[in-house]
Amino acid sequence: MPGAEKLSRPQTEPALKRYSSRSMAENRQTQTDLVFLPLGGAGEIGMNLNCYGYGPPDEKRWIVVDCGVMFGRETATPGVDIMMPDVRFLEDNRDDLLGLVLTHGHEDHLGAVAHLWPRLRCPVYATPFTARLLSDKLEEAGLDGEVKLRVVPLGGKLTLGPFALEFISITHSIPEPNAIAIRTPLGTILHTGDWKIDPEPQLGLVTDESALRKLGEEGVLACVCDSTNAFVPGESGSEAEVKVALHALIGTLTGRVAVTAFASNVARLDSVARAARAHGRELVLVGRAMRHMVEAARDTGYLKDFPRVVAEEDSARLPVNRVLYLCTGSQGEPRAALARIAAGEHPYVSLGEGDSVIFSSRIIPGNDLAIFELQNRLAARGVAVITERDHFVHVSGHPARDELAAMYSWLKPKVAIPVHGELRHMSEHARFARELQVPEAIVAVNGQMVRLAPGKAAIVDETPSGRLHLDGDVLVHEDDGLARSRRALSYAGFIGVTLVLDRKGRVAAQPVLHFEGVPEAVMEPVSDAIARSLDGKRGDELKEQVRIAARRAAKEIWGKKPVVRVEIVEV
Ligand SMILES: [Zn+2]
Ligand SMILES: [Zn+2]
Repeated sequence: MPGAEKLSRPQTEPALKRYSSRSMAENRQTQTDLVFLPLGGAGEIGMNLNCYGYGPPDEKRWIVVDCGVMFGRETATPGVDIMMPDVRFLEDNRDDLLGLVLTHGHEDHLGAVAHLWPRLRCPVYATPFTARLLSDKLEEAGLDGEVKLRVVPLGGKLTLGPFALEFISITHSIPEPNAIAIRTPLGTILHTGDWKIDPEPQLGLVTDESALRKLGEEGVLACVCDSTNAFVPGESGSEAEVKVALHALIGTLTGRVAVTAFASNVARLDSVARAARAHGRELVLVGRAMRHMVEAARDTGYLKDFPRVVAEEDSARLPVNRVLYLCTGSQGEPRAALARIAAGEHPYVSLGEGDSVIFSSRIIPGNDLAIFELQNRLAARGVAVITERDHFVHVSGHPARDELAAMYSWLKPKVAIPVHGELRHMSEHARFARELQVPEAIVAVNGQMVRLAPGKAAIVDETPSGRLHLDGDVLVHEDDGLARSRRALSYAGFIGVTLVLDRKGRVAAQPVLHFEGVPEAVMEPVSDAIARSLDGKRGDELKEQVRIAARRAAKEIWGKKPVVRVEIVEV
């Protein structure tokens, strides 16, 4: 809820608000500083977009780390599938925008590039797997010839103006997650990206502890860090443990087995594929995203030993105990493979009595209802539903508290800046960082500019921020009110009223009423109330009087006030 976010916005220190202060105009020309500005992902989980600026206030040069989307909620944003940050601030500073750097390939980190790049028009930097995912998206958007996409090798370095960047390998839940070390003349920042410590990630490199320790010895000014699991004690657990558990679990199942997981968790796909092979089951990839991710991983050098895959359309002939389906749709997405299977609408895959579906994933908050509905549909078909609540089939890709503690002990930063969390996650993360003896911890939400150096870190300014909604194929600002008006329509329907008046303002014919989503019992009383409200007033005054009368009558009978529009036709 955007309203709630506004109420709990951390305070900008008035004494430090010099960007807006005229009296400090002299200083403005000379004082170079280093700032951090989140435009997305600070105060919510999703649509990450982080800016770093260096230079005097009016001549700062900027880099951006990540540019992601967030999924819309049917109740809050009806008709909106994805949302992304408002980048007005960067558009205004486009001439000083040196580049966009991507930490990894998850939608909440790169999903908005194809939508927002036309407003930013800067070079984009990513490691090979992430670059491959992005280039597919750019191609779909018809931008592939336009965007300068530079591929950075793992562990690669790159200089953008005053920023010297180094990609540091970490572990997460997708191939090639990177932290970015950002060295500037005023100090070094470690932007962690999404991470965990997994000694056996099953695919790709382990977290580069020695590079992080070395950075700590060199001196770290600020650590801008993942807050997703700030409340979770202990460690997030390893992909290796999930692999062992899935192997054992699949060995106990006798009917058809389907596993659903995030397609981007390529290590998990590999573990499932190996378990299938070990138990004599043929692997079938069901869903476009599943096939796409496996192909992208193979093209960039991963999954060298991935088993042979049987095509969906050939899978029906396999005996029930000789097949394993790896499906999209773990979040209950209505168009994904698993939803179609559960509805009995998949052309090649059907599940029933004696079969099992393993949800090797977590429930992303907000998807709960869709996921439970999907699981109920499967249960109604007689399918056994296995989730992380009853079996060990999933580990998180984000750091639990012991991992956060390890990171802070390696880096010893002067300032901790929690991101990638709702306000409650970020506040808890800041508290925890202080407990770990990090001298300063700052909680800033989207649009709040944090000065990192020189001096004590503080929120020093506010920039425009907010969300853009992708509504169909059109980007609209959340403040345009489309979502609000659709919520009102979906809650209490619509009444259109056309008044037919003569030139002197007298009623020339019966008003024409049009009802959408309004119960029949309400129609007549509303119609009577409208007739009574026509008392010789003219123009807008009359329209408003009729509108209020209609809403009042509806409220009296129904307890709800529909949206009412009144038009006047003069004859
Ligand atoms: Zn991620
Ligand atoms: Zn993320």
